Amino acid sequence: MKELILIKNGEIALKGLNRTTFEDVLLKNIRRKLADLGKFRCYKAQSTMYIEPQEDGIDLDEAVDRVRKVFGIAALTRACIVEKDFEDIKAKTVEYLKETLSEASTFKVEAKRSDKTFPMNTPQICTELGGYLLEQFPGLTVDVHNPQVTVMVEIRDFAAYIHAGQIEGAGGMPVSTSGRAMLLVSGGIDSPVAAYMMAKRGLSLACVHFASPPYTSERARMKVLTLAKKLTPYTGNLNVYVVPYTAAQEHIRDNAPEDLFTVLMRRSMMRITRVLCEKEGADAIVTGESLAQVASQTLKAIACTDAAQSLPVLRPCIGMDKTEITDIARKIDTYETSILPYEDCCTIFTPPHPKTKPHLDEIEAAEAGMPGLAELEAQAAAQAEVVYVNL
Ligand code: ATP
Ligand code: MG
Repeated sequence: MKELILIKNGEIALKGLNRTTFEDVLLKNIRRKLADLGKFRCYKAQSTMYIEPQEDGIDLDEAVDRVRKVFGIAALTRACIVEKDFEDIKAKTVEYLKETLSEASTFKVEAKRSDKTFPMNTPQICTELGGYLLEQFPGLTVDVHNPQVTVMVEIRDFAAYIHAGQIEGAGGMPVSTSGRAMLLVSGGIDSPVAAYMMAKRGLSLACVHFASPPYTSERARMKVLTLAKKLTPYTGNLNVYVVPYTAAQEHIRDNAPEDLFTVLMRRSMMRITRVLCEKEGADAIVTGESLAQVASQTLKAIACTDAAQSLPVLRPCIGMDKTEITDIARKIDTYETSILPYEDCCTIFTPPHPKTKPHLDEIEAAEAGMPGLAELEAQAAAQAEVVYVNL
């Protein structure tokens, strides 16, 4: 029996004239995700996309698992391909759904017929196939309102397809249809979740991580690369810039008022990230900040951080509680890695009493007192190591 995956687009369906472009990007994203699993033919017809294995032995469970994580898909179905011939449909339904139907006690048949040349109409298909299945599986009864199994028969242009229900897709928009942004990734719980949320809205991402050896360890760096790897099923391949931040960070520690340290450091990170954005063709910065979570995430502190450079800063976690962020981290399987206890550069040198309502005037005055900082930031950006992380 030959199987395939049928895909229903999500929001793309609403995109009017641009729809073809969105669909093409989605197809490209799907093809990329499946490339190393074997040869597939991926194409669209009407509002459905078809993913057909072109060789034997392809792991379709794995393919379904990967496609489920591709943004831009509302629902997907794993189905059996049959001839547009009612005898073939009957025989293959029994064979394909044998296990599911033997375990169920109630079912119904639904049919869709977009090929109107097929000699039976949908009520006929449902009645006849339903009757046949009742004969074949004596334990079954029909329940049209609340069946355990809905057997779907779709008569389409090229073939007929049989399946027993849809799987929910990842939703959102295809990655890279909304532009490109740079994610500040820390190794904590929040920033990977921020990546997931913005990729879901169609952003393609690159990452920047600030490392301050010897205060932060090689293991902390590896942890960030592991997190990036865990994000790739959703984001696609990622360039991760690891910025050697020690010198700039020590300079701030040694030359600025202690209670402004955190905000000064965050502004410095933003300026460096902006330089990397130019390299990467990114038009925005994404962070995992959540309002009021820590001293650097008060409204005043955020305002000072945003004033450091002019690109928009997107903070998808801003209105979320830690428990909500954690739920998503578990869902996308980054949580267990994120809670590994390695030092992050944001947690070293943290003052005991950071100012929660800093003023931009005092921040700018403190920066005016550090004329050497700009050069250290330029060096840090230039010396960033790029690690390519793929699926
Ligand atoms: P997270 O759980 O993502 O680490 P957090 O709650 O620990 O966030 P902060 O440490 O204040 O909060 O960091 C806020 C945001 O700043 C992070 O979500 C991340 O986007 C960015 N950030 C923090 N540290 C780093 C770092 N070392 N490199 C890159 N970005 C960082
Ligand atoms: Mg953190």
